[in-house]
Amino acid sequence: MTEIRIVVVGAGVSGLTTALLLSENADYKITVAAKHMPGDYDIEYASPWAGANYLPVSVQGTDLAEWERNTWTVLEELARLHPEAGIHFQEAVLLNRSKDLESDNLSALAASTVTDPWYKDFVSNFKNMSKDRLPIGYENGNTFTSVCINTAIYLPWLTSRCLESGVTFKRATYGHVSEASNAHSSGIIADVIVNCTGLSAGKLGGVEDKNMIPARGQTVLVRNEGDGMMYATSGTDDGDEEVCYSMTRAAGGGTLLGGCYQKGNWDPQPDPNLAVRIMKRAVDLCPTLTSGKGIENFSIIRHGVGLRPVRVGGTRIEKERINGDWVVHNYGHGGYGYQSSYGCSQAVVKLVEEVLRARPTL
Ligand code: FAD
Repeated sequence: MTEIRIVVVGAGVSGLTTALLLSENADYKITVAAKHMPGDYDIEYASPWAGANYLPVSVQGTDLAEWERNTWTVLEELARLHPEAGIHFQEAVLLNRSKDLESDNLSALAASTVTDPWYKDFVSNFKNMSKDRLPIGYENGNTFTSVCINTAIYLPWLTSRCLESGVTFKRATYGHVSEASNAHSSGIIADVIVNCTGLSAGKLGGVEDKNMIPARGQTVLVRNEGDGMMYATSGTDDGDEEVCYSMTRAAGGGTLLGGCYQKGNWDPQPDPNLAVRIMKRAVDLCPTLTSGKGIENFSIIRHGVGLRPVRVGGTRIEKERINGDWVVHNYGHGGYGYQSSYGCSQAVVKLVEEVLRARPTL
């Protein structure tokens, strides 16, 4: 087979994972072109701000459930065999109140906390908590062994793996997706463009997906470590858009406290009042975070704001002909871009193969 030139637009977790899986085919010569790269912190770049953990949010039988299922297999193996990826196992404690499950806004996040979740059959050590172990105010609790991804290590690790496989990288900002066809390192027009532009797919020429909306997430990264558990609740009494979660990142990455899920809010600045509520809720749930001494005892590394790239109707993994170029889309992963990353990228690899099979032979 002759060489196939592929340009992946976007260097978030979606673009990097897709480039890595595509690079397993030695005939594919891949260039990743992006405005933001690992190491950057920017409101237009969701990936560095994520926790990130694995708490499935999908409904059984859907594409997303398959993508989350397929991703677990890889994340579990990375946590077990590849400490250099910055992923470690952590016990998750998921708590819910039935009133939160009725909230339209938080129901996607609350899905992982339901009594009998579909994913319980493949994650390790799943248990429903006995009522006497539940913190006051919660009606149900589940525990299982999840993973926490230190994004500051994992994104550069994905980049290094891509480089090792011959993928090239360049900084570029496109007004129209077709401009990327000129970005291949060979200088020859690309055969396929893969669009992994996250929230910016709403503005990118040729795509302009009106279904893209941000779901703002504010976080506080602290040096403190609690009791070793990862917590997530289905909601809080501080408002319909506020949630409570915490997880300790691998390899000294600190503990990430969240958060909120503010749909339609583009504000890049941390709200100091919300930051106080986030810290307060975290110590209420896990007092050992500050040795029982309240939020004054937090040592803060950074306040953060990231915009989850939500797509009404779900993640878009599709092929499309735009201005004569073949484009395969992989965007709109909301609050589950890491935990569906391998499943989505595997689906993209199949679509790229379909596009190439359908081309007239030269
Ligand atoms: P992005 O990371 O936004 O990357 C987009 C890329 O496209 C960037 O490189 C950008 O520069 C490039 N780009 C965009 N437009 C252009 C253009 N015109 N020209 C050139 N380049 C362009 N997910 C989980 O699975 N687990 C979690 O625990 C979790 N927690 C989260 C917590 C918070 C606070 C937030 C904000 C998100 C969380 N997420 C979590 C969601 C996850 O972070 C996102 O779904 C994921 O990062 C999306 O990745 P992406 O690569 O699609 O987009």
